[in-house]
Amino acid sequence: SIILGIESSCDETAAALVTSDREILAHKLAGQEAEHAPFGGVVPEIAARAHAEIITPLIEAALVEAELTLDHVDAIAATAGPGLIGGVMVGLVTGKALAMAADKPLIAVNHLEGHALSPRLANPDLEFPYLLLLASGGHCQILRVEGVGHYRRLATTIDDAAGEAFDKTGKILGLGYPGGPKVEAIAKTGDADAVPLPRPLKGSKDPHFSFAGLKSAVVRAHQSGEHKAEDIAASFQQATVDCLKDRLEKAIGDHGPAPHLVVAGGVAANGPIRAMLEQLAADHGMQFTAPPLWLCTDNAAMIAWAGAERFAAGFTDPLDFVARPRWPLDPDAEKARGAGV
Ligand code: ATP
Ligand code: MG
Ligand code: FE
Repeated sequence: SIILGIESSCDETAAALVTSDREILAHKLAGQEAEHAPFGGVVPEIAARAHAEIITPLIEAALVEAELTLDHVDAIAATAGPGLIGGVMVGLVTGKALAMAADKPLIAVNHLEGHALSPRLANPDLEFPYLLLLASGGHCQILRVEGVGHYRRLATTIDDAAGEAFDKTGKILGLGYPGGPKVEAIAKTGDADAVPLPRPLKGSKDPHFSFAGLKSAVVRAHQSGEHKAEDIAASFQQATVDCLKDRLEKAIGDHGPAPHLVVAGGVAANGPIRAMLEQLAADHGMQFTAPPLWLCTDNAAMIAWAGAERFAAGFTDPLDFVARPRWPLDPDAEKARGAGV
């Protein structure tokens, strides 16, 4: 079958057409970096307006590229959360309208499920279960992906996400937004041992991540005026690598390895983080899988693919499905932490 995917939960508007045979017929993406750059981060109201302006032409462009019309599409998958609610509503309402107009089933996709299943779009040999590090601007989680709709969250961040820490470090160092790629670039010429920085929760019995203390330490290191930006960037990146490694080792120790270790989310673009994950997988007899970079950051092909997997499993959603600003993939784990779901 052919699935149209729509994504608008953060600062990327995207539309894609993907088949259940893993063929990517078209994928279109419109970023909003220029709109948000003056503010050093994503402004929700600006994001929602930008999504609303571009989403219909983007879907049309995807259909043109694939040489298809809506009639050829078997189902419409739209991100229904979690994310910035204004943007999510733009994409979901568009998906609902198209589903209604073309009389096609709607699939409301959890954005995190899109990230979680995206490695299977790129790698046909990736079977369930696998251990997933999902590290993006808004999330930092370790999940055991057991099947479509079956996700066990083993760890999450108690404060900032890893990508958020990269973005804040970039901002502090005056590199601009988004900080991740810029911090990585200048870290190449820096000394990772130059600036002593903490490794929050390293060695802790608690399984979770924490990056807020690391960020504060970066602020102090910068304000001290004693360190070069490259050294702060390199030291910060190394601290992040160490934290991610320690928490993954804890998860593997507590829950056992899986055949595959998989990474998804924008932070997966980071070279040293990928290298650490590759080594960690080898150390524990796991195979390492990372989707291509464009599939790691927000895109609609992953939403279309999650839609294809859900469609094949027989899941579709009613047209009155409500957009969700918060939507944990594993509600039990969220409740166990005492957080509202
Ligand atoms: P969500 O959490 O809702 O998925 P998002 O849109 O922020 O939100 P992604 O598009 O998957 O998520 O990832 C963007 C994040 O990845 C940003 O925080 C960015 O700084 C980070 N990132 C991108 N490239 C790199 C890199 N080379 N090194 C480190 N971080 C990176
Ligand atoms: Mg983004
Ligand atoms: Fe994302």
